[in-house]
Amino acid sequence: MGWSERQRRMLQEMGIRLWAPVSSPSGAPADAATPAAMPAMPVAPPASSAGAPGTALLPTPVDTDAAAPAVAPVGAAPADARAQAIAAMPWTELREAVAACTACELCRSRRQTVFGVGHPRAHWMIVGEAPGEQEDLSGEPFVGAAGHLLDNMLRALQLTRDDAPPQRQVYIANTLKCRPPRNRNPEAQELACCEPFLVRQIELIRPRLILAMGRFAVQALLRSSEPIGKLRGRVHRYQGVPLVVTYHPAYLLRNLADKSRAWDDLCLAARTAEAASAGAG
Ligand code: URA
Repeated sequence: MGWSERQRRMLQEMGIRLWAPVSSPSGAPADAATPAAMPAMPVAPPASSAGAPGTALLPTPVDTDAAAPAVAPVGAAPADARAQAIAAMPWTELREAVAACTACELCRSRRQTVFGVGHPRAHWMIVGEAPGEQEDLSGEPFVGAAGHLLDNMLRALQLTRDDAPPQRQVYIANTLKCRPPRNRNPEAQELACCEPFLVRQIELIRPRLILAMGRFAVQALLRSSEPIGKLRGRVHRYQGVPLVVTYHPAYLLRNLADKSRAWDDLCLAARTAEAASAGAG
């Protein structure tokens, strides 16, 4: 991939260095920042193979990777009437249910719920952790400093949260729809209460690629408590949908050294989404 001047500026803003192509001993260019030059990764089949038409994406996340680690300490989604009702909701009802949710204590301290934004049939779905102060104020995910970095990362891949066709406009959602007080970590019971909403969002969108950012997204979707560093670099599955793990943008703001790894993850995600789209026809 050749980078336009604008993309180069974007990557620089992310703190990602673009290596000039140098000749490898074999004479082939070795441009580490070029997706095409990345080592071939196992590419998952398209999301359309997730199940027969009409087959519900059940709230039982599965990582089909043979090396998948043990079950995470996240409570299972309550298999009760509430979860079943949510699993059948269309968008409007789902949005209203989130806005009115009082299933956990977070409803007491939130200003408003943060449902998610983007294309309802987006090819890419980005899953983060929980709203922070800015998101609690605005009602939109990732609008603070971490969101600014996320937008830049997306822009470098010619993706956006703003209006665009579903190939380009992503959908962004969090594992929690309410801000934990003082931005503390989500608790297991909160994650369990909120999980049916995320499950339903994924089912309605049926993305071709899920990008799970940070450990809580990974715990919720892959049931894994392995560190991000161990899970990144390969394609997992969530209910048949290819899932790529990467660092949370807020972490990247504090750990600049990992930005180039995050860029590698985005390149893997881009190749995987492309392969899934090619398979979907
Ligand atoms: N961090 C997240 O994980 N989500 C947001 O919406 C904001 C910050």
